Amino acid sequence: MIIDAHAHILPQRRLDGLSIWLGRVFPNHPLAGKSFTEDLIVKELSRNGVEYIFNYVFPMEASETEGLNLFNYNLGKKFKAIRPFGSLHVENEGKESIVDNCIKNFGFSGFKLHPYVQGFSPDDEKLLDAYERMEELGTLINIHTGFEDYYPQRENTITFSMIEGLIKRFSGLTFILPHMFYPRLSEALFLLENYENVYVDTTNIFSAIIQDEENGMNRDREREVLMDSLNKWSKRMVFGTDHPAGMSSADKIFSDFYSFKVNDTISRDLLYNTAHGLILRNGGLGG
Ligand SMILES: [Zn+2]
Repeated sequence: MIIDAHAHILPQRRLDGLSIWLGRVFPNHPLAGKSFTEDLIVKELSRNGVEYIFNYVFPMEASETEGLNLFNYNLGKKFKAIRPFGSLHVENEGKESIVDNCIKNFGFSGFKLHPYVQGFSPDDEKLLDAYERMEELGTLINIHTGFEDYYPQRENTITFSMIEGLIKRFSGLTFILPHMFYPRLSEALFLLENYENVYVDTTNIFSAIIQDEENGMNRDREREVLMDSLNKWSKRMVFGTDHPAGMSSADKIFSDFYSFKVNDTISRDLLYNTAHGLILRNGGLGG
């Protein structure tokens, strides 16, 4: 049994946009130009043993937020496998009520922000009310870190100190840090070691190490830090595919993970137990 703790099933218009983007930025990507539907994504994941999917959406503009959260809510009704997460935009008015609606009415498990794509900084003052409300509700937030090369046109940065500042300020809010600031994995390891409200999401790291090595880069140090983190902290680490926006096809992403041959305990923690624990506290798997 697997929980894919990071996927992006989006409204069809956005999925179409994603295929175009992939084709333009990564023409050799196995999914470049391939068209996706929500049914196909769920099918490809379930073929790999995925039973539950944390589904992340994020609005590019404030006006998109309401429809996007409703889309994810409806997706959770359509597919038993989907655990929806909410999102918002820095320019939204009434962020507390957006947070309330997502958690209290929609029963979402938490929130996602993708500041590089959304075009704002995660520590923007205008977001603080939202974080405060999330903290009061004891929920989760997943904020993108690392992989700067993927976002050459970004206007903002997501720095270690910015994220650490939020983690300290909102110590009752559980942070899930996807990609562990790749390739600066030691930054994520430091946060795991020093703050109990930090979890990391290893999405894309296994495949990125493999692909970087295939491209002639030395990733021995990153392998070492990753294994060190896994050995010590697998109870606070999850794995996801990022499908259909990940490093490869869903099948290859899983085979890349398995190629690291981590022991059974670590594997169970990453593929199921940690994610399961996180959402048992936040709405559970049913409903
Ligand atoms: Zn993602």
